[in-house]
Amino acid sequence: MVKKVEVLGSGCPKCRQTIKAVEKAVQELGIDATIEKVEDINEIISRDVVATPAVAVDGKIVLSGKIPTLDEAKALLKGGAKMKEEKAKLDPKFAYWKGIPREEITWHPTIDENRCTGCGMCVTSCGRNVFDYNWERKKAVVARPLQCMVGCTSCQVWCVFDAISFPEPQYEKDLIKKKGILSIVRKQLEEMKKST
Ligand code: SF4
Ligand code: SF4
Repeated sequence: MVKKVEVLGSGCPKCRQTIKAVEKAVQELGIDATIEKVEDINEIISRDVVATPAVAVDGKIVLSGKIPTLDEAKALLKGGAKMKEEKAKLDPKFAYWKGIPREEITWHPTIDENRCTGCGMCVTSCGRNVFDYNWERKKAVVARPLQCMVGCTSCQVWCVFDAISFPEPQYEKDLIKKKGILSIVRKQLEEMKKST
């Protein structure tokens, strides 16, 4: 019997639709399960979610990057421990950075909701579709953090309200040294030279 259903996401409309589907499914199936929202971006990443909204049943991520229909939500709940895992895959072109799996690198924007005016600059300008927009709260939300270009801080520069922050640049410099990235870069340069 399912005990806990979590909806992981940033409170965007897609996440709310997911919560509604889950609530209705729980109600129609007569399951005595708690439904929790997980909105903390670091926790979402630590749970191996690459796109929101996501659904976890008894701690296991069973769906991500998709709003379930009522029937799909019911199927996920009825499946219990045997349910088929349907996880969004990180776009292959964003899955690695210099050979390092992207989920091993902590680099993504964090939005201070108190400062965000919902101007939309970051949402409409990021070339990697990292943000969604919460129309109800009129706030930007970080929906696909692992798609953020490692080392890029463009949206922080664009945000005139100083609502966006990133890890310290030293984190990135240490990573480059620790993982021997410069030797990979040298090989890339050699390849470039050959092709010119
Ligand atoms: S640019 Fe800044 S203020 Fe504007 S939506 Fe993005 S985070 Fe919010
Ligand atoms: S840092 Fe660059 S890639 Fe990352 S979210 Fe901001 S604009 Fe997009």
